[in-house]
Amino acid sequence: MFEIKIKDFLGRIGVLDTPHGKIETPALLPVINPNRLLLPVSRMKEIGAEALITNAYIIYRTPHLRERAVDVGIHRLLGFDAPVMTDSGSYQLSVYGDIEVENEDIVQFQIEVGSDIIVPKDIPTPPFSPRDRAEKELMTTVRNVSEAWEMLAGLSNRPLLASPIQGSTYPDLREKCARMLRGMGDIFPIGAVVPLLENYRFKQIAEIILHSKMGTSTCTPIHLFGAGHPMILSFAVAFGCDLFDSAAYALFAKENRYLSPHGTYDLSSMEYLPCACPICSTHTAKELRESDERERLLAEHNLHTAFSEIRLIKESIREGTLIELVQQRCRAHPRLLDALKIALSHTDIIDELSPQRRSSPFYSGPESALMPEVRRHQKRLERLEVGKNCIIFTTHPASTHPELSLKDFDSVFILRAPFGPFPPELAETLPVNTVHVSGDLEAKHKALEGVVYLVKNNPDTLFTLVLDREWLDIAKQRLNGLDNVEVWGEENG
Ligand SMILES: [Zn+2]
Repeated sequence: MFEIKIKDFLGRIGVLDTPHGKIETPALLPVINPNRLLLPVSRMKEIGAEALITNAYIIYRTPHLRERAVDVGIHRLLGFDAPVMTDSGSYQLSVYGDIEVENEDIVQFQIEVGSDIIVPKDIPTPPFSPRDRAEKELMTTVRNVSEAWEMLAGLSNRPLLASPIQGSTYPDLREKCARMLRGMGDIFPIGAVVPLLENYRFKQIAEIILHSKMGTSTCTPIHLFGAGHPMILSFAVAFGCDLFDSAAYALFAKENRYLSPHGTYDLSSMEYLPCACPICSTHTAKELRESDERERLLAEHNLHTAFSEIRLIKESIREGTLIELVQQRCRAHPRLLDALKIALSHTDIIDELSPQRRSSPFYSGPESALMPEVRRHQKRLERLEVGKNCIIFTTHPASTHPELSLKDFDSVFILRAPFGPFPPELAETLPVNTVHVSGDLEAKHKALEGVVYLVKNNPDTLFTLVLDREWLDIAKQRLNGLDNVEVWGEENG
């Protein structure tokens, strides 16, 4: 039902098969409020929506909608012939504390109206809840998923089941919940992260995503519930999310907020519209602000900008440059950059799930030193033969130290940040041909880690290091105490 076409980092382009057709992922599903259609559904399709999500609970609780949905089906009710996902009312549960419907009834209702993707009644435990509450509630969610899974078994052309992963802000509980749900469902949404998104708690989101990924099978699609802001999309895709829903386009429009991949602007104080969508290219900020249709037009721009970001993410996956896009996007907010560093430090998960990259990694900031290809390269150092005499240099010694002849050494290495030492014949190959920005301390530290590793691994070898001025102090500091190393700088040349 889910086929992965191309992978890059932990992100992928895939195809999800539903009773009403295919959805190419990463995909963004606009949220439709059946009581208040801000944009015509046909317009959403034009903007790029391949699927929609609506709230089955609201329809169930509104007599005229419910009657019509049962009568003509959810697709005709919304006027949309492509896949429709229905939510069970968790959002209402998180806002009002209780919803008046049993799991079995709301699942049966979603089956009856012909939903393509069904969500059972899950319990969205808020972030930072007491652990025993999170544990108890995730068990209820697992029971409800199990009940729904049994109800779907044996249906012809059966809808897909979205099995929500809960567990509040406890990474181990998220992983446990994901493991318990294995084999029960087709899509695995990560639930109850909206309060974290609203408060820029990206670190917690990163932990939750990665641990949920660890618990699920690698070939199942992951949905990040409630994440529709373009700023977060590339990050979430790069760490393994495939589906998103956006209520943000409408909620933000209502509050006069203008979305962009770089953050949110307040329309009331904007003078320029930094976007080329049909709305922004035919309105000035003032015209948009003063339009009678301001909310609808702004919602339309917000959707355009989110879909345009999804297309950029897909193209980056094709090119193999997704993580570079994430590095750019994370500069929009310091907490996003922190979250990226936290996420990249989960080396076990990333090394297990990310493929070898197809493109040359492009240096895009200090966190480039944390990339898996740097670690993979340094791991290879343990297999290298270095002989009795080894020279490692940042620039060829011929110009600065003519007395050093490479012929006198058993092995020769070039030192480049952040990779560390590598044989000259690899200089133009992946991954060490990365563009490096000099002056970056993290990258040099990482490279010198590789040197220290090589030196300690070969205690009987004499290492001669010939280093540029910018490397000298930090190298002396890092290599202090190792007696089989001799460092040559520019001053003794
Ligand atoms: Zn626009």
